Amino acid sequence: MATLRQQALAMVQSRPRVKVEAPALKISDFFGTNVFGLNQMKQSLAPSVYKKVMEAVDKGSKIDSATAEEVASAVKTWALSKGVTHYTHWFQPLTGSTAEKHDSFFDAHAGLEKFKGSALVQQEPDASSFPNGGIRSTFEARGYTAWDPSSPIFIFEKTLCIPTIFVSYTGEALDYKTPLLKSLEAVNDAAVAICQLFDRNVRKVSPSLGVEQEYFVIDKALFSARPDLVMAGRSVFGHNPARGQQLEDHYFGSIPTRVKDFMVDFEIEAHKLGIPVSTRHNEVAPGQFEVAPVFEEINKAVDHNQLLMDLMDKVAEKHGLKVLFHEKPFAGVNGSGKHNNWSLITDTGVNLFQPSNSARENLQFLTFLVATVKAVYDHSDLLRASIASAGNDFRLGANEAPPAIISVFLGETLTSVLDELEKNGNIKIEKGDNMYMKLGISKIPEIILDNTDRNRTSPFAFTGNKFEFRAVGSSANSAGPMATLNVIVAEVLRQMMKDIEKEIGSGKEKKIAIVNVLRKYIKDSKKIRFEGDGYSEEWEKEAAKRGLSNLKNTAEALDVYMKKETKELYSRHNVMNELEIHARHEIMLEDFIKKVQIESRVMGDLALNHVIPTAILYQNKLIENANGMKGLGLDNSAAIETIKDVSRHIEAVKSNVNAMIDARRKLNKEEDIVKRAKGYQKEVKEAFFDKIRYAVDKLELLVDDESWPLVKYREMLFIR
Ligand code: ADP
Ligand code: MG
Repeated sequence: MATLRQQALAMVQSRPRVKVEAPALKISDFFGTNVFGLNQMKQSLAPSVYKKVMEAVDKGSKIDSATAEEVASAVKTWALSKGVTHYTHWFQPLTGSTAEKHDSFFDAHAGLEKFKGSALVQQEPDASSFPNGGIRSTFEARGYTAWDPSSPIFIFEKTLCIPTIFVSYTGEALDYKTPLLKSLEAVNDAAVAICQLFDRNVRKVSPSLGVEQEYFVIDKALFSARPDLVMAGRSVFGHNPARGQQLEDHYFGSIPTRVKDFMVDFEIEAHKLGIPVSTRHNEVAPGQFEVAPVFEEINKAVDHNQLLMDLMDKVAEKHGLKVLFHEKPFAGVNGSGKHNNWSLITDTGVNLFQPSNSARENLQFLTFLVATVKAVYDHSDLLRASIASAGNDFRLGANEAPPAIISVFLGETLTSVLDELEKNGNIKIEKGDNMYMKLGISKIPEIILDNTDRNRTSPFAFTGNKFEFRAVGSSANSAGPMATLNVIVAEVLRQMMKDIEKEIGSGKEKKIAIVNVLRKYIKDSKKIRFEGDGYSEEWEKEAAKRGLSNLKNTAEALDVYMKKETKELYSRHNVMNELEIHARHEIMLEDFIKKVQIESRVMGDLALNHVIPTAILYQNKLIENANGMKGLGLDNSAAIETIKDVSRHIEAVKSNVNAMIDARRKLNKEEDIVKRAKGYQKEVKEAFFDKIRYAVDKLELLVDDESWPLVKYREMLFIR
């Protein structure tokens, strides 16, 4: 009987091409057709109702029941006209994926379709089936979802989806969206105050986000024939292919036809959902690709990224493909990230990270730039923790992704501007002087980055008019890291405002006051700035000398959530209370432990039930062969050497798997979750994963190709 691997390989060869057709020639003809956005609202609601919804969107004011009733009725009419039968609240529990609970519009008693305002605004899914980090045992089990009118309602697979937050009955956040929305208020308050030093007309500052999403695509049949990919999202075994990414010919190379069809298909669906995807290309590793939309207001951008991942998963199915969002599905080839491009934009239309020709605006630009650098310096551990996950641990610091050391890259131009500003600290500014000129900030040239001067090794880089946080994992929900970034920037801006006011209070002119504070902040946060090669060993040494943290794994990185300062920071900005931080910490630890546990089990299972039996069969063949040769009086020493090699590796696999199982058993009894997570890191993952893999991968090279049970790397990465 052919192995699952051989059946899968045969299947790949016989796949028909899937035809993809756009609903219209121009994207603008179908963009957003599955979205009940502001345009639809404007068209279908009475002006007074529309105004109330807009107020809720802009100021977060509550929607009264009469307004909700009107909106629900309009949404229902729109949805029914598109053949939609069900509705659901769509939310982002801390499982990492999105959740839905579908209800039918059809009311059997009344014999017609109904959708009440109350059903639009609030629902009560069973909170007990989602991670809650102990919130549930302290309080009530019930949780509810509440409509977030700032993110558009959409249709997904004939279901009307209403974006919502998800909170416990007592109001604690059980999702990603709630803290993100609260962080928007925090950064808005702090940023508006600073902006008003420069322009009294600014009333609102909103973060924007553009997510570059990396992913792998492999054939669905090959995926299904690898239990480790199915269970853990990554291959725990597999020898490097003869042709890896040494050639680097994949990057920006031509996209294979099947994958291209898939991309075109999901882009069409994304456009219907109002997701502004715009770029597609190959990534560095074979089988790896990237999609990026045009940036949007951050809450929408996060929702769109989550939705896009779901969508890609569904569309891939149709093409006989599987998308891998795991940070490191294949050892030895590059992993995947989710570059979060972030900036702050005012309601007057100014991107606060855009250098300008106007000296006054440049001072404002520098104020926000310096505040962000300082925020990353002061809270680098929090930023590091916000991207911690079992999957991302394989990527960070693996000489192909940003290191686990958080640093900021500014580029040559800005570095010299900040150095100048710091150096000119003693220049006396007389009345009538052009201060900007004297300080060297009257003109900051537009920063145009080409591919050579954009430092790709930095986890947090300034890229012209935005910061790019590159250390985020490809499977992560961006809301976590983005809420963190918003809060830490809010914190520094708030402190900055106080410091500026103090300077002004002591008689300094406003501009001088600002510059004095900037100088101090530049000096204080200098250590976090790094322009060199983030992948190098020298940087690790240099960073240690500078006192920067290098938290290489999740178990360690999450400790920062236990600090008093962290809890105070989040509650000071009204983003999360102590209980919520504690819950999140537990959930992240739990998730980490579970993932390592699953990988460890899959490893044991594959090793003992697939690899070793195959290796033994092969070993027996070799023994027969060696005996046969001996019988003929031939030299069988080479055969015997191979038999010894195979035996040695079989023995290594067996003994290490057994010892690993013992280690797990011991750790599962550990009650303290922090200790359990650290134990899983050291005593399971670090102690055994590499050893077992090494032996299995050696066996893959020794055992004859035909009987090897697992789909090989070259097959997964190159066959399409
Ligand atoms: P790359 O970094 O690969 O060169 P781009 O420069 O095209 O990519 O931009 C990457 C992402 O950054 C895109 O999603 C883009 O829309 C987004 N982006 C551009 N300007 C901003 C901004 N001001 N704020 C947030 N995101 C932005
Ligand atoms: Mg980029």
